[in-house]
This record gives sequence, C-alpha cells and structure tokens, in this order.
Amino acid sequence: MLDDPLVQDLLRKIIDDPEDHQGAKKSKSKKSKKNDDKDLDNMLIVQCLNKGVKTDEEIAEKTGIRLNIVRKILYRLYDAGLASYKRHKDPETQWYSYDWKFEPEEVNKTIKKQINDEIEFLKNILDNEKDNMFFSCPEGHTRFDFEDASNVGFTCPECGEEVVFEDNADIIKELEKDIKKYQKIYDSIEVSE
Ligand SMILES: [Zn+2]
Repeated sequence: MLDDPLVQDLLRKIIDDPEDHQGAKKSKSKKSKKNDDKDLDNMLIVQCLNKGVKTDEEIAEKTGIRLNIVRKILYRLYDAGLASYKRHKDPETQWYSYDWKFEPEEVNKTIKKQINDEIEFLKNILDNEKDNMFFSCPEGHTRFDFEDASNVGFTCPECGEEVVFEDNADIIKELEKDIKKYQKIYDSIEVSE
C-alpha cells in the first residue's frame, strides 16, 4: 500500500516539512539533495510504523533517525488522523510510554476524499464548458465566455485582435476522460464503512 504513488503523495504532504523545502529553494542544489534524503527518512518512519513497530524509541533505533524527529513525524501523522496512540503508565517508574499505530484505513479515506474533491472540481469546469460558448484571441492572449466577450466588444484587450469562436469539443473530451480516470481510481480504493 505504501508503494502506491497516491498514498506516497498524500503522506509526503503530511510528513515533509514545507519550511525545509523553502530553505532548499533559496539555497543551492547541494542542500536540496540533503533535503531529499531527509524526506526519504521520513517515509522510513511511516514504513516502520506500518510494520507494527510501536514506540518512538524503537522506531528511532530501527531507522537511525533522531528521536525528536521521529516524534515530530508521528505527531504530524496523528494530526492528520493517520496514526493513533495509546498511553501507558509504567507502575514502577511512573513514566508514560506511547504505543503508536498506523491507520491505513484512514489513509484510504483521506485519499478518497481528495479524489472526490478533484472530481467535483473537474465536473464544475466541465459544466461550465458545456453550458457556454467561448471566444479566444487568435494570439492566445485571452479566452472569454459569450457575456465577457460581449463586454470587451469581441476584441482582445491585450492586442486588439478580434476574438473568435472556439470549438471546445476537445477540452470537453479531455475533461470527461480525466473525470473517468479519477472515478476509476476512486472506485478501486476500498474502505470499510
Ligand atoms: Zn490578443
């Protein structure tokens, strides 16, 4: 399951630190390579958790990643609802320990929701394309529906060329293809109710 590109995308968005990437953009390639390695490390934590390794100490030991980073990633997963933990109190030392658990079911649910949002987004665009006529500048500067094209007197505000009717059949075909593709992925992800 963790090999699935969709799953990896979702997990990376959650576990990778966006501030690290900003830093990487500002500095040169040497550092961004370092950040790539770090992101790979973050995935090791998830893999470890998914295999049933329970505590942050064990994960740190098995992955060789610093304990404070392991904890940070675990809490990011927890915040996203993709991991849970149980707290135990050691009767002798009175210390708390945490047993962590990965929630693959929640990963699937979150991905399904994201795909569904994408489908809704594309359907809105599709409806708009089907319900309207479009006029575009021959130079490719602008594209208007009928009302907006009327408002600019059917001339491109950028270059003054006349905007011409655009057959959007191909755009509609592409959108329908994309929606079908997403729908297929959506249907293939099983979640129990
Ligand atoms: Zn133009």
